[in-house]
Amino acid sequence: MRRFVDLHTHSIVSDGTASPGEVIRLADEAKLAAVALTDHDTTAGLAEASAAAHSYPELKFVPGIEISARWPGRVVHILGLAIDEASAQLQQIAEQLRQSRDRRNPQMIEKLRALGVDITLGDVEDVAASRSGKTGGIVGRLHMAEALVRAGHVKNISEAFGRYLADDGPAFVNKDELEPAEAISAIHHAGGVAVLAHPALLRCDNSAQVAHVITSLCGMGLDGIEAYHAEHSDQQTRMYLDLARAKGLGVTGGSDFHGSAKPQVRIGKPRVPIAAFDEAWLARILG
Ligand code: AMP
Ligand code: ZN
Ligand code: FE
Ligand code: FE
Repeated sequence: MRRFVDLHTHSIVSDGTASPGEVIRLADEAKLAAVALTDHDTTAGLAEASAAAHSYPELKFVPGIEISARWPGRVVHILGLAIDEASAQLQQIAEQLRQSRDRRNPQMIEKLRALGVDITLGDVEDVAASRSGKTGGIVGRLHMAEALVRAGHVKNISEAFGRYLADDGPAFVNKDELEPAEAISAIHHAGGVAVLAHPALLRCDNSAQVAHVITSLCGMGLDGIEAYHAEHSDQQTRMYLDLARAKGLGVTGGSDFHGSAKPQVRIGKPRVPIAAFDEAWLARILG
């Protein structure tokens, strides 16, 4: 019996470097019981992943998405798990998010150029296209970071975020994102469960602030919290497990795998035990 799952991964259709089929293969190699593909703001990789999963009978595939939503002073990421990608509401939101990226990307390039960094939107689109083999996919900050590395402006991805691209960096431009309630509602319309992704990355100063965000999201229909995540300390994971219990929310977890764009993050790490899932909650996600 396989005992661990990874419910948060990215592929080349957003800012990962592995194809959807490769993500599935790696999840099986890691002997996971289930894997979710949760690309940023798009469901474009789900058909390939689902087809690939047929080759691995011991691995359950969970179709997902990670939706960016706004929150005063920060961004919240909401995972939709066990979604039906054919949902019209969900596709409408994906289109809206793509348009806000299309507005934001040239603005960020402008800011970089004003800072004396000689880079073009074409350079960034080339990074995305060189991974996916085609143009027109999601283009985001991780692609910009890689373009800056390729052009020799920074040594690595981390320096690209540290000097320019981080949420409080000089080249950052906020996207006109959705209200979290809209993201949650679209996920519910698509038959999925809505989970607050990596709460430790909310840039909250203390646990009372996190609890406040979670309480507000609960009022909007949030179903769960991603307690386990590659960037959570054990202590943070315990805190989110406790918060979930106190609020009657389900828990999930995942690696937030991005392939070689984040080489320190491996599929199936941290270990997310199925035993942490309530039975009814597990059935909603794994079917
Ligand atoms: P975007 O959706 O275009 O704003 O890009 C967000 C993505 O950029 C996140 O999902 C991460 O993959 C990546 N990212 C954000 N902040 C950092 C950081 N400080 N270091 C490395 N990657 C980051
Ligand atoms: Zn990403
Ligand atoms: Fe995220
Ligand atoms: Fe993610």
